[in-house]
Amino acid sequence: MSFWVDVHAHLDDDAFRFDCEEVIERAEGMGIGTIISAGVSISSSRRVLEIARRYPSVYAALGIHPQEVKSEEIDFSELERLIGSPKVVAVGEVGLDYYWDRTHEREQEEVFIAQIEIAERNDLPLIVHSRAAERRVLEILAERVHHIPVVWHCFSGDVSLLQEVLLHGFYLSVNGIVTYPKATTLRRSLAVVPRERIFLETDAPYLSPQGKRGKRNEPAFLFEVARFLAEFWNIDIQVLREQLWQNFQKVFGKRVDAKIGRQELSKRERGYTI
Ligand SMILES: [Zn+2]
Repeated sequence: MSFWVDVHAHLDDDAFRFDCEEVIERAEGMGIGTIISAGVSISSSRRVLEIARRYPSVYAALGIHPQEVKSEEIDFSELERLIGSPKVVAVGEVGLDYYWDRTHEREQEEVFIAQIEIAERNDLPLIVHSRAAERRVLEILAERVHHIPVVWHCFSGDVSLLQEVLLHGFYLSVNGIVTYPKATTLRRSLAVVPRERIFLETDAPYLSPQGKRGKRNEPAFLFEVARFLAEFWNIDIQVLREQLWQNFQKVFGKRVDAKIGRQELSKRERGYTI
């Protein structure tokens, strides 16, 4: 028994303020049985937790995004307290982002490292964001991660970055970018990635797949990315779903309440469109 999982979305984003419930229902209708919603700050993490409490199919990843890192102090004890709540299945999204602004480079590193330590202490997978900082992110992860699984979210790198990510034993997660005509570098990586090391995500409300470009992205659109990948790999879409489900079980399985998952699944199966 398997269903689709969106391992990375931002349901607490303002874009979903008025219709979060419908967005979750549409995803369920498309067979997306689990959504991991990621926090980007302490206040965002609190909102994510509330949404996860309200909706059985939503789980939480809590963390501080590198672009949210400024000079002010961060209350890591509060973050760790929130991380101890039920339905928190990962720490994220965390990492480094030097794309727009390198002003807080040192602070970004400190915050990243502190959150790796929180993930290690709580035995939770780490969901990593890296933009224009791949070298340093790899160095820090190699040095600081000892026991926990790492998911490199929004992977769009070339084969050499892919090889390094794989060599360290990390996973990657890909989204709508894979469907963009210009994403040839990423597709070259996907042609060689081992299927047991990959996840799908939407990063909703951002990065809509090609067919929905210009619109708000939402977890229901994960299916477009899945269909694209199944065609690209020339495999049956059910085979892809089964593989991704196994990957999900391996990394997040023991943190997700399997009982809730099964109950919800049998309810939802009737509404499946796939
Ligand atoms: Zn994100």
